Amino acid sequence: MEKICVAVRVRPPVVNANVNGNEGEGGFTSHWKVDDNRISLHRSLAGTPLPPALSYTFDHVFDHDCSNSSVYDLLTKDIIHAVLQGFNGTAFAYGQTSSGKTFTMNGSHNDQGIIHRAVEDIFSKTNTSTDREFLIRVSYMEIYNEEINDLFAVENQKLQIHESLERGIYVAGLREEIVNSADQVLKLIQMGEANRHFGETNMNVRSSRSHTIFRMVIESKGKDSASNDYSTLDDAIRVSVLNLVDLAGSERIAKTGAGGVRLKEGKHINKSLMILGNVINKLSDGAKQRGHIPYRDSKLTRILQPALGGNAKTSIICTVAPEEVHIEETKGTLQFASRAKRITNCVQVNEILTDAALLKRQKLEIEELRMKLEGSHAGVLEQEILKLRNDMLKYELEREKLAMELEEERKSHRERISAQGSESLTQETIDTQQGDAFSTPTFKPAPHAFVAKRSYKSTPPEYSPLPYEFGDVADEDTWFKMNNGFIPDLDLISMTPAKQVSDCQVGNDKEIQNLQRQVYEAIDEKTEFEKKYKEQLLLNNQLVEKISKLKREAEEIPNRLRESCKAVNEEIASNVQSLVADDKSTAAKLFSRTSEFVTFLMSTFEANMFKNEGNKSSSGKEENEQGSNKDKDCPQVASWKTELSSEIELMKEMYKSMEQELDTNNHLLEASKERVDALERESQLLLAERDDLLLTVSDSSKRLAALSQQNEKILQDLACEIQKRKRLEEEIKQFSIAFASRQRSLISFHCDFQSKLEDHLKAQSLPKSFDFST
Ligand code: ADP
Ligand code: MG
Repeated sequence: MEKICVAVRVRPPVVNANVNGNEGEGGFTSHWKVDDNRISLHRSLAGTPLPPALSYTFDHVFDHDCSNSSVYDLLTKDIIHAVLQGFNGTAFAYGQTSSGKTFTMNGSHNDQGIIHRAVEDIFSKTNTSTDREFLIRVSYMEIYNEEINDLFAVENQKLQIHESLERGIYVAGLREEIVNSADQVLKLIQMGEANRHFGETNMNVRSSRSHTIFRMVIESKGKDSASNDYSTLDDAIRVSVLNLVDLAGSERIAKTGAGGVRLKEGKHINKSLMILGNVINKLSDGAKQRGHIPYRDSKLTRILQPALGGNAKTSIICTVAPEEVHIEETKGTLQFASRAKRITNCVQVNEILTDAALLKRQKLEIEELRMKLEGSHAGVLEQEILKLRNDMLKYELEREKLAMELEEERKSHRERISAQGSESLTQETIDTQQGDAFSTPTFKPAPHAFVAKRSYKSTPPEYSPLPYEFGDVADEDTWFKMNNGFIPDLDLISMTPAKQVSDCQVGNDKEIQNLQRQVYEAIDEKTEFEKKYKEQLLLNNQLVEKISKLKREAEEIPNRLRESCKAVNEEIASNVQSLVADDKSTAAKLFSRTSEFVTFLMSTFEANMFKNEGNKSSSGKEENEQGSNKDKDCPQVASWKTELSSEIELMKEMYKSMEQELDTNNHLLEASKERVDALERESQLLLAERDDLLLTVSDSSKRLAALSQQNEKILQDLACEIQKRKRLEEEIKQFSIAFASRQRSLISFHCDFQSKLEDHLKAQSLPKSFDFST
């Protein structure tokens, strides 16, 4: 039992970020402090340090000034060396986005990461190993949106995970490359990275949400220099797997879980990392309380199952960001790390004795090739061998993928049948469809099929599966014709890997299968050659026919040429005539003359052609003489000639006058162009002016609108004021009326009072001279 090795690495603080010293909640400041293999959260209040709030111890804690080289030496190197000895090994990088996972795994230009160092280490060890020989395969995959994509082959998307007794858990159809140098691997990784970036608009988002797994499968076998008899190689071969994993940002768990992000990738990342967390939680509970471990709930945990509580030496490097803003994330990462620290794995060397090891199967072929190529350019040949090996591997993977698809198809077919209800089918047909390895979803096997059936439920036969009757058994040729040249490899129609037979029988079976395969291969080759021969014959016949056809055509060419020239000439003549009839322009006249000229040329050409045909043997000189004699003999031709020369003169003159006309037209055109330019400039200026005016107009209209608004407001105020004044006037009026009536009543009261007083005074006999008004 072996504990998982857990380390924490603190990334250097980001310049200009809120690192330390900023006062947090309640006046506290916090920062992480690394002390040997301990990391603690220190706090201080108003500059006074407080005892550490949290403290964790791990196998290693790397401070921000630590290089990838020391991380590799202390954490991963041992695992890599163990992998070469046949142990499985896995190294994870876990942590929030931008905490340094990729920096640790892939490194930078100056400081290569773990993957680079591991690859170089592995090759330096294997190249110098004296006692073992190695075969190394690499693959590179990405889990994004809970789908597995092949980074070595963009076309391999959404790959499925399968499990078999021989290979354990594996990704079907994932491209594996056999490699023999570190450079080759690093180039492949570069290509993988480029594929990952292909068509991706926001790479940061993708890389923070996806997991990448770089995988090396290392097969090795003890060197046996004394023996060259590879057919007897049956000693144990070690097959170990190294996984180097760059996980998605761990903040996704918290953020997608708590915030309920509805994005698809959010959900899936959440799922994969959540399940990883769950698996680690369960594993850290200790063997007794463990219960069910949910490896199968996510692609990530399923692929890495052996690395988690299984048969693998595992290290986890948890990267953290030192900034105060990331304290909560960092705490989460450290808690994850502490749980992981409690996990124990049960590690053992993977030695296998079966034929599954690729190394063993390829050994013979490689050695054969080596023997053949001995003494020639070794480097080139090594490459050649590697290429062949890779081709073989690819075919194998392709075959495996097809087999998987076939199996899936069968499964779904069976499900369909059972869903449709068994009552429509007799028990017999169900048995046949389930048991027949050759059945396709639409194929109903005949009761006496000529192909011997192989039931995957039946035990392996003790003799070759010969049919009881030979009457309806097809011979090879019939079979070949019926299948359009395809000969099935019976071994591809696989038996279940779980068959239990004795070792001796297995050996015999294998031998028989090997022989069968060889026979089929030979037949394949033969039929291929036959096919090619037939094709070649067919091609030859076709070529002979073509050649004779071409010859015939070549003989007909002069006749055809003459006819086509005639036809063209006639057409031109008719066209020109119609033009002349339509139009009396100089061009039309020119055309008509030209056509006459062409007619003349044609007749001369024809005459020459006939002459050529008649006197093929006579020399050129004689021909010329004959020609001139003909001229002399034919006065019509001489008159044509003079006519023609005068016509040509006329045409020349016309041409000249047309040229002059053209010149003047050109001048005129230039002048008008200049005028147009000037006008354009003017119009542009006017347009600019108009734009300015429009701007000022819009400004003034805005101002006008504002003024009229103001005006309206003032008018409204005025109306209000007028109304108020009217109301006041009304009030004053009423008041003056009231006042007048009061005054009147007062005056009358005064008069009354005075008269009454006078009366009273009179009655009191006051002197008459007393004037009361004074
Ligand atoms: P992640 O993969 O966790 O999202 P990265 O590895 O991309 O984070 O790191 C984020 C940034 O921090 C990168 O620019 C990287 O170069 C830098 N970085 C991370 N760790 C270190 C380190 N230990 N030393 C120097 N730079 C680092
Ligand atoms: Mg990253």
